[in-house]
Amino acid sequence: MDYSVLAETYRRIEETTKRLEMTALLVGLFSGTPPGIIRKLVYLTQGRLYPDFMSIELGVADRLAIRAIAFVTGYPEEEVTRRWMKEGDLGLVAEGLVAVKKQRTLFSEPLTVERVYASLQGIAGASGAGAQELKMKLIAEILHDARPLEARFLVRTMLGRLRLGVADMTILDALAITFAPREGTGDARAAEEAATADELAARRRNRAAVEHAYNLCSDLGEVAERLATGGMEGVRGIRLEAGRPVRPMLAERLGSMEEILGKLGGKASLEYKYDGMRIQSHIRIGKEVRLFSRQLENVTGQFPDVTAAILQAFNSRDHEEAIVDCEAVPFNTETGEFLPFQEVSHRRGRKYGVEEAAEDYPVILMAFDCLLLDGRELAGAPYPERRKALARMFRPTDRVQMSESLLTSDLSAAEQFFQKALDSGCEGIVAKSVSEDSAYRAGARGWQWIKFKRDYKSEMEDTADLVPVGAFAGHGKRKGKYGALLMAAYNKDLDRFETVCKLGTGFSDEMLESMTAELGAQRVPQRHARVESTMKADYWLVPSAVYEVLGAEITLSPVHTAGFGKLRSGSGLAIRFPRLKQVRADKRPEDATSVQELLDMYERQLKKVE
Ligand code: AMP
Repeated sequence: MDYSVLAETYRRIEETTKRLEMTALLVGLFSGTPPGIIRKLVYLTQGRLYPDFMSIELGVADRLAIRAIAFVTGYPEEEVTRRWMKEGDLGLVAEGLVAVKKQRTLFSEPLTVERVYASLQGIAGASGAGAQELKMKLIAEILHDARPLEARFLVRTMLGRLRLGVADMTILDALAITFAPREGTGDARAAEEAATADELAARRRNRAAVEHAYNLCSDLGEVAERLATGGMEGVRGIRLEAGRPVRPMLAERLGSMEEILGKLGGKASLEYKYDGMRIQSHIRIGKEVRLFSRQLENVTGQFPDVTAAILQAFNSRDHEEAIVDCEAVPFNTETGEFLPFQEVSHRRGRKYGVEEAAEDYPVILMAFDCLLLDGRELAGAPYPERRKALARMFRPTDRVQMSESLLTSDLSAAEQFFQKALDSGCEGIVAKSVSEDSAYRAGARGWQWIKFKRDYKSEMEDTADLVPVGAFAGHGKRKGKYGALLMAAYNKDLDRFETVCKLGTGFSDEMLESMTAELGAQRVPQRHARVESTMKADYWLVPSAVYEVLGAEITLSPVHTAGFGKLRSGSGLAIRFPRLKQVRADKRPEDATSVQELLDMYERQLKKVE
């Protein structure tokens, strides 16, 4: 098939913003494509060589493209660069210069789609010594044989900047129109014109089936090839496969727990909504573990600790293959507390320093769904069944756990659970349907999952001066030192120190060293009489020092004693995400922030979220 057919279609697609016109152009293109190359053609139209989830980028550098254009057209590199600066698009520059040259030379061999694809593959795969020269040669060869319009799209494709503005769903529409009506109705266009109500209904069903297949395999090329070679039968044969990402299920949102329970038929499985990064884990014992982000990017290389944790927790005696949906939540290994989700961003997109980042920004994996187990597709099964499978396959460890959940039909139990989720540092809950039709809806936002987040945002307006009253033994790098401190505010009325947080962040290595020595001198065998704590520290300290602490917000918590029962029965105040700012050697423990001050700060910080 001639590449010029593709180039001409791309040109026309670029000229329209109307989705229906784009679809019609694609239908025209797909109808004339031999089934053997439809997969490649679809990837090329997406501006890629492989499905999205294979992180193989074309990514030719601008410099190299300029060199190749200069070489092929006979213009100096400076001239190519000058035109590029003016036009802002090397594709158009190549088109213009190739056009001038082609007036002078004979047309060479027409470029075929197959040849273009093979050359681009060669370019993407070139690595090591001599890679630049090989890329240059491959680019020059196809540019040499390209017509002007072809040069425009070739250059943009190799730069990784095709950007036709065609959404995946438009390609799916076009594929369904082109290939689905073949069942009994002849060719695509005739079917389009002669459509009866029945046919239209059948087509809608087909369209839904095509989209479903895409949601399961996340690969438009695969869907296209199956359709072109086996029609709807072929598409229905697409199944989940460990190693190939599934488009994630998404949640709807409602404003009250009552509405949520109502919507889910009066009963639901409530789960903590962890604030981290979604990770879809594909486990194949004896082969590999692959991790995909919510955008289906392969992030395995960035999270070797997650892979190790999964392999440790996975019950590989009884199982060998699974797809598991999880949230990776940053946490403090010393205090066990969750950290702001932004901490994971330090781990993303890294090629170097991966191991260090894993140590500096550890995550805990909270598993919440299972789509495939040992070749058995569970995505279609009701949620409770999937959850059971999840419980069987993992032995919870300090790095892999099941999401906290509660099956309930009781409104007040649900509200308490929501409160517990917030107290544990989560942003809310996700309520999940447990009905017969609670299948995993890949790629869809539906009412099977409903999220409920707190409706206020709070920020701690000031730092607090707190007193260390206990300490915890450190692990890993902090072995032999204190890993975290139990911090308290001062209750003036009762002249005692009431706890508000575990502080494990913000210490330098030297600081940790000196702090362990200084506070160590204040150690007492039991909790000091002026300290009020329900938490058990490894070591107890005489309240003596004052540390200034920065926090994200003040929350209510059942595990801390500051202002216990003042705002809510069974809860005290806690500082979330505490971080040491500085030691206040100028202050006495009785000068620390008082419990009353914290209560006032709590009241002031609440702001409604619009
Ligand atoms: P949102 O991003 O606000 O639409 O919320 C949905 C996201 O919450 C999912 O994509 C997950 O990354 C995350 N999440 C955290 N905990 C859970 C859970 N228990 N069940 C489902 N999703 C969860």
